[in-house]
Amino acid sequence: MSSSLPSTMQAQILAAFNQPYQLTTLPLPTPTDYDLLIEVGAASYCHTDLVYASGAMGDTLPLIPCHEFAGTIVSAGPLAFSAVPALSLGTRVGVPGRSYRPCTTCWECRNNDGDPEGYSVACPKGGNLGITMNGGFSQYALVDARQVARLPDELTEIEAAPLMCAGLTIFAALLKCGLNKGGKVGIIGCGGGLGHLGLQFGFQMGLEVVGVDASDEALKLARSLETKAKIFDARTTKAEVLLTEIGEGADKKTKGESGLDAVLILPENQRGFDYGMKLLRNHGKCVVLSFPTSGFQVSASDLVFRDIQVIGSLVGKNRVLKQMLAFAAEKNVRAVTRTYPLRDLNDLVEEYQTGKGGKLVIDMTL
Ligand SMILES: [Zn+2]
Ligand SMILES: [Zn+2]
Repeated sequence: MSSSLPSTMQAQILAAFNQPYQLTTLPLPTPTDYDLLIEVGAASYCHTDLVYASGAMGDTLPLIPCHEFAGTIVSAGPLAFSAVPALSLGTRVGVPGRSYRPCTTCWECRNNDGDPEGYSVACPKGGNLGITMNGGFSQYALVDARQVARLPDELTEIEAAPLMCAGLTIFAALLKCGLNKGGKVGIIGCGGGLGHLGLQFGFQMGLEVVGVDASDEALKLARSLETKAKIFDARTTKAEVLLTEIGEGADKKTKGESGLDAVLILPENQRGFDYGMKLLRNHGKCVVLSFPTSGFQVSASDLVFRDIQVIGSLVGKNRVLKQMLAFAAEKNVRAVTRTYPLRDLNDLVEEYQTGKGGKLVIDMTL
């Protein structure tokens, strides 16, 4: 390890569930094998961090949370740069949560659909940064060279961090809709962290985007973006009325002939799910991205008589991550961010819970 590096670092740790994070001094970790040591520049807060802190997801404690961050490589294990020749000391990288040291031999690792040989983000034995092992709310973080993506020059670390989970998740979900240019997609929960990125990605992909949300702040944020998405307030506009307003209305006989080709479901409630299902034309796709503990109730007649497909989506492959970063850089897709210093992570969490939308990011330079 380079002698210019400090021997300790500041990190926010979750020591117990349902307790505030604690700013702590820890020894600097040493990279081995495929590891990189990253000096974190920016680390973004995700809804999953909130769920994890409530004790509903995992049992790793104490834990440095955060699975979407960006930084600069300052040190590396002996296998890292030979495995990923595009990286070297000083390279700026974006870091997603999945997957640290995958097993290389399981079904996922052998059937990874275009990711490097033996590397899968879905390996059940791979570590998940910020969930099963330490993540990015820390001055330095240990990551796997095979899980990161080089940042395009156009993206700052603050811009890149929120793309590493929220951006990748919504981008991959839009690809899963399988739509051509002009295809119609609805984003239910369009003013939140994922949603407001989805409006931009969808618009830039050439899709006709309809956004729906149900809070004043989220709607304001969605409407402030430079997209041609049509934004609706679910509290005052019924699904049937929305369809009429976008020229997809129908009478009883033609119902199902018109509507959206796909919807993305982001809210954690049945109301949002039902609203999205009503917007779909027959044979449409409902892509579920949220996971309320009580689940969703699906109408069998929507599946049988309307041939609606309900599918789920979770983050995305490493090759999609690289594709997403290049797309965001080129098309100027950026999260609306508000930044905090590392020491004020608990204030950030408080603001998150007010539901103003956009993404909250720790800026390590503050
Ligand atoms: Zn996340
Ligand atoms: Zn594996």
